[in-house]
Amino acid sequence: MSSSKATSKCFLCSLAKWARKKSVWLYHAPAGGLCNGCDIEIAAAITPRYDVERFGILLAPSPRHADVILIAGQMTKHSRERLLRVYQQVPEPKAVVAIGSCAISGNVFTTDNYPVAGTVDQIIPVDVYVPGCPPKPEAIILGIIKAIEKLEKRTAGT
Ligand code: SF4
Repeated sequence: MSSSKATSKCFLCSLAKWARKKSVWLYHAPAGGLCNGCDIEIAAAITPRYDVERFGILLAPSPRHADVILIAGQMTKHSRERLLRVYQQVPEPKAVVAIGSCAISGNVFTTDNYPVAGTVDQIIPVDVYVPGCPPKPEAIILGIIKAIEKLEKRTAGT
């Protein structure tokens, strides 16, 4: 590789790292079964009351544009394939945040329940767990910050 190509690749790597640090995009993925309590708290975290957008954190319209996947709710057999597809569509480096007791442990929905596929981390790798039923927006924001720290470490390793 010529030195100018190497320099420009390095420049693009630094630019990508800088852009990701300044603007992390979230994809709110479906788990299937949930009461919407966690979804409402996620909505509160990203809308003007808590307003994470002022830090450059915003919802992505497609998993292909996202850095972090937020997932809440009980993992159902019906949604398992869809979640796997979403996970594969998010480019590397990426991080996954499981939000709420349903996503983390199944909550009151036991795994011998016929529509239940298990916990989210049995389907895709989870980086950050945000417990609660539902967790408060502050806890969700803290989870997103932890995911950003993981992304920074992964980006530094590339
Ligand atoms: S963790 Fe609680 S609030 Fe969240 S989806 Fe499950 S039952 Fe609803």
